[in-house]
Amino acid sequence: MTIRPLVILPDPKLRLVSEPVQAITDEIRTLAEDMLETMYDAPGVGLAAIQIGVPLRVVTIDVSKSETERQPMVLINPEITWASEEKRTYEEGCLSIPEYYEEVERPDRVRFRYMNLDGETVEQEAGDLLATCVQHEIDHLNGVLFIDYLSKLKRDRVMTKFRKAARREASGA
Ligand SMILES: [Zn+2]
Repeated sequence: MTIRPLVILPDPKLRLVSEPVQAITDEIRTLAEDMLETMYDAPGVGLAAIQIGVPLRVVTIDVSKSETERQPMVLINPEITWASEEKRTYEEGCLSIPEYYEEVERPDRVRFRYMNLDGETVEQEAGDLLATCVQHEIDHLNGVLFIDYLSKLKRDRVMTKFRKAARREASGA
């Protein structure tokens, strides 16, 4: 397993729409392993493949927040099949937008369908952190970031901050 470098805002890759996975190959298994390793190392509770620069519809999630009892999930081609009308607000962060947290309102519960690494289709319902995480990660597959749900003022502010940081890095300062 390899820890891969994270794609950070304002990298335009984060705006790509990822392609569906056609078959569970060794390449996909390795990708999923690397994603889990990268996510645990960060540490984070969710990661989409595009966040390590791979535009495929693969997501890893572990909301257990426990190093001793990990509950890794690998979601291939995940999609939301139902969302509750009831909403809830959760403070979100993103490994591609480090050290920035903001409250986002999303459906409280969702049902989602995906393929696991055995090629089986799984349908599951979730609430709480898992519901938020699944929605956040599926957004990544469509080039959507959680800052897109904020006011334009807040979004502009965070974009400016990360553009400046990227320029500083590029100039070696
Ligand atoms: Zn994210």
